[in-house]
Amino acid sequence: MKNCRERRGFTLAELLVVIAIIGVLAAIAIPVFSAATRRAEEAACLSNRTSLAHQLIYEQMGSDAVLTRNELQEIADESGIKCPSGEVYKITASGEGNLQITVNCRLHSQTIPQQVTDAYQDLLNKNPKETNDDLRKTFYEQNGNAWPILRVDGTDYYIQPYYNTGDTNRRPLIYATLAVPECELKGKWQWAARFIYEPDEQRWYQCMNWAGTGQDSWAVGGSTVEQILERVHGNNPNTGRPYFTPYTGSYEELPATPSEGN
Ligand SMILES: [Zn+2]
Repeated sequence: MKNCRERRGFTLAELLVVIAIIGVLAAIAIPVFSAATRRAEEAACLSNRTSLAHQLIYEQMGSDAVLTRNELQEIADESGIKCPSGEVYKITASGEGNLQITVNCRLHSQTIPQQVTDAYQDLLNKNPKETNDDLRKTFYEQNGNAWPILRVDGTDYYIQPYYNTGDTNRRPLIYATLAVPECELKGKWQWAARFIYEPDEQRWYQCMNWAGTGQDSWAVGGSTVEQILERVHGNNPNTGRPYFTPYTGSYEELPATPSEGN
């Protein structure tokens, strides 16, 4: 009696076809939808950052004493203005009267240390066999034979990436050093870290035990980024070893300026 089948609903085959079609439509719709959401989020974030920066500049100008980066950060936190993604904004302040204020979102506006991190991570991922020295050289050349600059009290420190071959995760650490611009891409001088970048807190830690010559400040120890940052957080002045404290003064981060004739 199979040829006089009554149709009382969908057959399994029909249902499967319908489910497959819905699946295809969803596969098309979800990327379109999420790209639109992402753009809306970026736009809202930019608008939030602009408005928060204006608010902070207003506070700075209205204050009798110059507000430090930390004080501005507190005002920003209390304002409740955040990225729609939930990211909390990080404030940097530099220049005369700390009036050069930027509001950074980890997702939507990249600071120079974050750009260096991402660019170097990319090199690390794409060149699994290359050594740290060779990758640093590539990075340096990609930047027109220059490093980005961390300027503190009129002194320029070169912002550089580093990874330890013992780190199987191959994650870069970002530090700033006084070594010569050419950086002697190999050799001990390059490791005289005066500042180490803390990626989660998005701020610099300052080495508190540097010698005037800058030779012996890289005795932090640890091979992975996690181990190094753990020591950076250790903040113990009594060990006789270099220690780090969060840098709270003003500073500027400047992109690499490609050198002429290279
Ligand atoms: Zn954002």
